Amino acid sequence: MSPLEYFGVDALVDEDSLALRDAVRTFVDKRVRPHVALWYEEGRLPARELARELGELGVLGMHLEGYGCAGTSALAYGLACFELEAGDSGLRSLVSVQGSLAMYAIWKWGSDEQKQQWLPGMAAGATIGCFGLTEPDFGSDPGGMRTRARRDGDDWILDGTKMWITNGSIADVAVVWAQTDEGVRGFVVPAGTPGFTAPEIPRKLSLRASVTSELVLDGVRLPADAMLPRAKGLSGPLSCLNEARFGIVFGALGAAYDCLTTTIDYANSRLIFDKPLSAYQATQLKLADMTLELGKGMLLALRIAQLKDAGTLDHRQISLGKLNSTREAIAIARECRTILGAAGITLDYPVLRHASNLESVLTYEGTSEVHQLIIGQTVTGQAAFR
Ligand SMILES: Cc1cc2nc3c(=O)[nH]c(=O)nc-3n(C[C@H](O)[C@H](O)[C@H](O)COP(=O)(O)OP(=O)(O)OC[C@H]3O[C@@H](n4cnc5c(N)ncnc54)[C@H](O)[C@@H]3O)c2cc1C
Repeated sequence: MSPLEYFGVDALVDEDSLALRDAVRTFVDKRVRPHVALWYEEGRLPARELARELGELGVLGMHLEGYGCAGTSALAYGLACFELEAGDSGLRSLVSVQGSLAMYAIWKWGSDEQKQQWLPGMAAGATIGCFGLTEPDFGSDPGGMRTRARRDGDDWILDGTKMWITNGSIADVAVVWAQTDEGVRGFVVPAGTPGFTAPEIPRKLSLRASVTSELVLDGVRLPADAMLPRAKGLSGPLSCLNEARFGIVFGALGAAYDCLTTTIDYANSRLIFDKPLSAYQATQLKLADMTLELGKGMLLALRIAQLKDAGTLDHRQISLGKLNSTREAIAIARECRTILGAAGITLDYPVLRHASNLESVLTYEGTSEVHQLIIGQTVTGQAAFR
């Protein structure tokens, strides 16, 4: 029995969401699994091609309504993220940044003109977006950002540097957050705007099948209508992060599931001292504990999706899921690696690739420590961030 069958998870999911999940699984099996080890080794992702195909599949901004988006439930979106990340965290990152960060920012906070201009192309995967919040000196504390937007007549002039931006160098459009005289505001920056460059960050050991870049804004002049009119203050970008964190709650478990099922197959077929590795108690204790953590994580994820679909999800509840899924997924990936022995250190198996990817997933969209602090504040009433 597979680890999630054991928990009866499918019985908690509606037919439409299961069908969508299966379509994404088939896509990942055909289009990603056969190639992803090589992409990872070479440190690249054919993002433009994949974005078009993911657009056809209907997963880009899939939980948004209108403008060519599929308008699915949050649960269906979560299950899609699970399947994408079972392929590779880089693939899920491409989809999350496109749909939950860049598209969501425009969808939620943009003008009608901005939505009409950008969202249909982004839903189709013809236009790639990125989301620039983090800076070299401000990650967990984005409120300190130094990127500045100042008025020049009706125009805006943006100066500053963003760091660790997924899809940055390949993006057609960047949503950039900057300090203004009226607090933090968001801007839609077309990639060809003079003064805007996006050099790729080389030498990554994690999320290698994903583009990560710096965004340099050097006197970037934008018209007045480039500002997202409805987002005022940090709550704008933080609302987008909550969307992306929701995808990670499911996605990280997808990576863990791929590790665990790969490892169970390996342990069943690997003979050690004349019997299968899976028949040793020491192995079974590990597999049992991992099965339990995966299933518990999935039940928490499903509860969070249920709350999101009911419209009652509090951002502090997403922290429970983001912390649990990433922390348990990386623990599962590392434990699986021990069962694979030396074979586990190669790209012939997905396990160390997932473990290495999960180092990034643990850090982005709020580090584990930041989510612990949010949970700590929720249960004690005391903020311990400073
Ligand atoms: C591959 C990758 C892709 C990314 N993509 C994007 C993107 O598309 N857009 C974007 O804007 N950003 C992106 N990021 C950036 C990411 O969100 C930040 O890395 C993250 O917010 C952490 O910031 P930092 O790296 O500056 O770490 P820091 O904030 O410097 O944190 C360093 C350590 O200090 C800890 N810490 C922080 N605050 C506290 C505290 N109050 N108490 C105790 N410990 C604390 C942290 O938990 C961490 O362990 C990406 C990052 C990676 C690795």
